[in-house]
Amino acid sequence: ILKRYVTGALSEDDMEVVMAEATLDVPIGSKAVVVKNLYVSCDPYMRNRMTHHEVPSYVPDFVPGEVLANFGVSKVISSGHPDFKAGDLVWGITGWEEYTVINNPESLFHINHPELPLTYYTGVLGMPGLTAYVGFFEVSKPKKGEYVFVSAASGAVGQIVGQLAKITGCYVVGSAGSDEKVNLLKTKFGFDDAFNYKEEPNLEGALRRFFPKGIDIYFENVGGKTLDAVLPNMRLGGRIAACGMISQYNLEQPERVGNLFYIVTKHLRMEGFLVFNYYDMYYRFEKEMAEYLKERKVTYVEDIVEGIDSAPSALLKLFTGHNVGKQLVTIAHE
Ligand code: NDP
Repeated sequence: ILKRYVTGALSEDDMEVVMAEATLDVPIGSKAVVVKNLYVSCDPYMRNRMTHHEVPSYVPDFVPGEVLANFGVSKVISSGHPDFKAGDLVWGITGWEEYTVINNPESLFHINHPELPLTYYTGVLGMPGLTAYVGFFEVSKPKKGEYVFVSAASGAVGQIVGQLAKITGCYVVGSAGSDEKVNLLKTKFGFDDAFNYKEEPNLEGALRRFFPKGIDIYFENVGGKTLDAVLPNMRLGGRIAACGMISQYNLEQPERVGNLFYIVTKHLRMEGFLVFNYYDMYYRFEKEMAEYLKERKVTYVEDIVEGIDSAPSALLKLFTGHNVGKQLVTIAHE
């Protein structure tokens, strides 16, 4: 559960694991389903939901004392809904708990490729995968041969963006916060180049070194100083897919970005997007991504911790950079 609303940096103490009785049967006459949760996902936007917003945010605030909710992979154990039966594997929003009653099962997705690792449905075959896919193809509108920069490049979303860029025939460079991650980008995900931004005191200069001809597409995951350094390095007519700005989520005051005038002078298009508005594409995406995975055109790295007690510390890793790949938590083995 969330213990209290959070201001500034998230700490483990803002969350608590408590015992409560689970409901295992669907109430008579209801269209709800009851699921057993197998894996739950840690995602950066959960931090936003832990702040109390005077003006409603793009997702509802969590309520202190209530169970945290996020994407997970679950097995239906009882169902009052005609589209779901006991034994079905699903992914979607569920509770950070062992069993959850889902009152709006229409929000769940069926899992059509159980032959692939089920954990992938918190990542490459789930919400982060669809985010990478729509952010790259729908928002960035890439062309073969273009120069692509991805920040937070080894994470749940970034590692997929880089691989989709390579499939498209782009030149792609990623930034990440450790040498281990940089090595993954170059050796496992096929980025053309990569660098550790923590070892580059002059980020704008570093980007000039990696992109002497400039950047056509910036896949923005970080915001703040990174965005400021990217803007002067963009090429005329470049696109910025504003996916997230994780460097800002724990700040009480967001950082100022000074270089925005380059959007005018370089004819840039910077477009934000929320994956929630692209769910109608999900099953098409699932089919295509499952093929890429089976053909080994896309590979995926996960950071899996065991047990609900580890969930608070796992969520924190996203903000310290201690996760290597998609962060998720095993609640139960099938
Ligand atoms: P990741 O798996 O990439 O984990 C977060 C990573 O961000 C960390 O590992 C760390 O990597 C990096 N990071 C954390 N703090 C900072 C900082 N202050 N400066 C620079 N880097 C930092 O997370 P996701 O792939 O799940 O999410 C990536 C982005 O995509 C986030 O901004 C998220 O909000 C956004 N998102 C947006 C969606 C949408 O619909 N628009 C949907 C899903 C995600 P490192 O070690 O490299 O610093």
